Parts: sequence; C-alpha cells; structure tokens
Amino acid sequence: MDALITGGAGFIGSHLAGYLLQQGHSVTVLDDLSTGCYDNIAHLAGNPQFRFEQGSILDADAVERAFTGTRSGETGQIDTPTPTPDTNFRLVPATPTPTPTPTPTPTPTPTPTDGHVNHVDTVFHLAAAVGVELAVSHPVEGLMVHVMGTKLIMEAAHRYRCRVMVASSSEIYGKSTSDNMSEDDDRVLGSPLKSRWSYSEGKAIEETMAYTYWRETGLRTVIVRLFNMVGPRQHGRYGMVLPRFVHQAVTGQPLTVYGDGRQSRCFCYIGDAIPVLVDLVQRSDAHGKAFNLGSREETTIEALAQKVIDLAGSKSTIHYIPYGKAYKDGFEDMPRRVPDITKVRQLTGFVPRTTLDEIIQMLVSLERGVGEGRFPPGRNETLYSATSET
Ligand code: UDP
Repeated sequence: MDALITGGAGFIGSHLAGYLLQQGHSVTVLDDLSTGCYDNIAHLAGNPQFRFEQGSILDADAVERAFTGTRSGETGQIDTPTPTPDTNFRLVPATPTPTPTPTPTPTPTPTPTDGHVNHVDTVFHLAAAVGVELAVSHPVEGLMVHVMGTKLIMEAAHRYRCRVMVASSSEIYGKSTSDNMSEDDDRVLGSPLKSRWSYSEGKAIEETMAYTYWRETGLRTVIVRLFNMVGPRQHGRYGMVLPRFVHQAVTGQPLTVYGDGRQSRCFCYIGDAIPVLVDLVQRSDAHGKAFNLGSREETTIEALAQKVIDLAGSKSTIHYIPYGKAYKDGFEDMPRRVPDITKVRQLTGFVPRTTLDEIIQMLVSLERGVGEGRFPPGRNETLYSATSET
C-alpha cells in the first residue's frame, strides 16, 4: 500500500504511520503542524518508505504534492518534478475528456525512486481541528478544515482512484444518552448557534461526502467513528481529559474535573484500534459503510480522576470546575458515549483488549519517563517507548 495520512503528525496519525511502515507499506504524511507535532514523526524520517509533506489540506498545491509524490518537506530528500498524469498516473477524470491528438513525446528520463509510486493508493483522512476546546474557541477554522479540506481530499482521492478512510467521531451522536450508540441511530444535536456543535456538524459533512462519493462514483470510502482514543503522544493541551489527568496526578496538581464529573466515556487504547483502521480500508465489504470503533468499558470522569490518582499513587486532589469556567457560557457536554461495536467486531474480529487500568498504568509510566506503549498481546511491535522511539 502507498498510503497518505492527512493529519499524520498528530496522536492517531503518527501511530498509524509507524504501524504501516512496520507492515512494509509506504507512507506520506500531510500535516500543517498546527496541532500535530513533528516530534511525533521525527523518528520515521530516516525510513526510505516515509515522506513528510508540510502543508494544510486547505492548500490545493500541498494536497496535490502529497498525492503525487513530489519530494519536499523535511525528509531532506531531493525534489523531483511531478510526473505528467498521462504517463505515470492511473488518472481517471470525473468527466470524459476528448482524446488528444497524439504527439511524439521524448522518452522520459528515469527518475530515482525511493519506494514511492507516483501517486498514493490509500488515504487515511485524519486531519481535523482537534478537540472540543478548539471547536469552541475557533469554530470557523474548524469548519473550514472539515468542509473545504475534506472536499479537496475527496476530489484528489477520486482523481487518483484511491481507497479512503475518513476518521469521524463519536461527536456525531451529539447528546444522545444511549448505552449502545449504533451506526444508524438518529443524531441528537443542539442549536447551530452554539459553536459546541460545529465539530459534530463538520464531521457529519465529512461522512456525507464519503458516503455520497461512494454511492455516486464508486470511490472506495469507509467511515470510522472513533470513540475517545487514548495512548502515548496524546496531549492534554487540546482538552483531552486522560493525558491531563495523568500529567496532573504525576506532577501533584489537582485533577480538574469539569461539571459534576458524572458524565461518562469509554476510553480505547490506540494500539487496539490502529490495525482495525488498516484492515477496514482494505475490505471491499466495508466500503460505503460507517463503523463505530472504541471500547465499551464505561467510566464517569469523576471515577476516572480517582482511578488515575490511585494508580499513580498520587497525593493530588480532585478539583471540580463548572462548565461555564472550563469552556464558555452555554457549553453543553455530552453526558454519555457508549458505542455499539457489533458491526466492526463481526467484520474484523475487533475486540478492545487493553483495559482502562492497563492504559492508565502505561501512561503514568510514560509520563514519568519510563516504560513503553505496546500493541496488545499477540503482537510484537512496540507502539511507543519513553526512552527510545521505534
Ligand atoms: N474533562 C474534564 N477535565 C479536563 C478535560 C476534560 O473533566 O481537564 C471532561 C470533558 O468535559 C468531558 C470528558 O472529560 O466530559 C472527556 O473530554 P475529552 O475532551 O477528553 O473528550 P470528549 O469530550 O471529546 O469525549
């Protein structure tokens, strides 16, 4: 596979990039490093199968470069010109074009290759405005990335006939309190005048694009709704609760629980989820469909805070912060999020193997600068190491 990961320098994308390379695939990462971080992928830069393109999915030139393999960015490799579509690309125009009069063309000079073909064949579209805090503080920016950025990615994927995995989110379900959110469930959203819902709306438009491209053009798309992925490299700075709590507990600060802490979530270890993303995008029976992906081990945020304190052996206390102070007035939190994972389990055999206790213990060790993140039993690859990157 010659994969493109948009948002590949982020928490999920960087693990996906490492995993794909371990599996012998080629990987291009397109990331503008706004919320992603080059440090997350720096250890991959020496791999000849890896390429980094710094740019936004809102930038048509950067998107084209990412799809077509023009060398640029931080890998230190030599730039090669973009080959013309009719010589090297499997370009299939969306609308028929008149057959051009053949003109003699010089034999192309072979260009050095480093394992990349001339365009990617599989796209993992992860680039997004990360986290609820950002959606609330910069809603326009977030919407543009979701809507306009995804438009450019889907158009390019269609041009080059790629398979596409669109990363969606449990935010799709809005404020439903179901204990078994299922892919075909109705969405329960607040007013569009509350920017809190713009993330959910943006993701829904991405899903709609993925689905309608599949229906109308046969583009092989699959939608994956991720439920609270956690693991190494996730930062608390964009609001994510678990890395915040772990950092607060290890450094002896109070753990900041928003609201009364009775809202609940199911946290899923990223190492359990990554192989499923790769599996799904390659399956023809997954195309045109949406899948929940996550754990069903439910915990309230208050109980999570206590668990982190206990497992870290920390003296930290719990500090309750009203939503109005944590976010902005009028903010509405999702009370509960429990996925029905029957569909993904039936197709791929997915079972979340890593327990919340194991995840917290791993993150506490990594926060202290020791230990490593691992794929679940049965896999030998190291996901992440506090001391030496793989
Ligand atoms: N949260 C919290 N303290 C924090 C950060 C988040 O209590 O320092 C809460 C947040 O209000 C939400 C839950 O933890 O109820 C999960 O938040 P996160 O941003 O990690 O994920 P999401 O809201 O997208 O599920």
